[in-house]
Amino acid sequence: MNYHVLTLFPEMIMQALGTSIIGRALEKESISLEAIDIREYTTNKHKKVDDTPYGGGAGMVMQAQPIYDAYQDLERKIGFRPRVIYLTPQGKVFHQGMAQEFAKEQDLVFLCGHYEGIDERVLEEIVTDYVSIGDYVLTGGELPAMVLIDAISRLVPGVLKNEESAQFESFHDNLLEYPQYSRPEEWMGKKVPSVLLSGHHANIEAWRREKSLQRTYERRPDLLESAALSEKDKKFLDNLRNNTCK
Ligand code: SAM
Repeated sequence: MNYHVLTLFPEMIMQALGTSIIGRALEKESISLEAIDIREYTTNKHKKVDDTPYGGGAGMVMQAQPIYDAYQDLERKIGFRPRVIYLTPQGKVFHQGMAQEFAKEQDLVFLCGHYEGIDERVLEEIVTDYVSIGDYVLTGGELPAMVLIDAISRLVPGVLKNEESAQFESFHDNLLEYPQYSRPEEWMGKKVPSVLLSGHHANIEAWRREKSLQRTYERRPDLLESAALSEKDKKFLDNLRNNTCK
């Protein structure tokens, strides 16, 4: 997976993604990352990249030309038209399913806006996907781009070690993950559930499934509508509902 981030703040991207699991993946070359400085593509001597909005109003708008030239340079370099994701509060709200879909691509381009946003005409020319990270407004698209890169990278083969596997965690099967515990067996008077110490794998799996169902029911009941549930799961949830209603 090759990530290309079109941004006014390349150092923000490179510094933040160079650490921990993503940093290790970059070192191992399971993924690659370049931050392309849009400002390098301005044609005016002051390297100005924004101007006031036509029609009036507050703030500045990022101009089309430097973004388009930066994108064209990139397209020439990689040799095909890649998927271009514009991070915007007006986009589809990001979720794990989208991360899985994006992880299948060979190259992904992220376009980060700033100020009041970007001239609509260049968006029409180059953007394939409009993605938001939630219903709130941030100052720029860099943090959202990093959120997507982190979530997508975890699904790229070779990025996670076996013990960090992304297979059985929250949103797998549209369920939240069961609670996790580690040493010591007792902390502040709270004991680790005894089933987890039993070594009985079938019982542990059954306990985890129930906790996962219960947690999803309590915290994100909306997810259950699209979860793959067995008859046993449904019975367990019915019992839970009946007991909560009492
Ligand atoms: N005026 C724009 C609007 O109302 O839609 C908001 C512009 S925002 C201040 C500046 C930039 O931050 C956007 O161009 C976008 O790249 C990024 N941004 C802000 N909030 C975001 C969100 N929730 N998800 C993704 N990107 C966001």
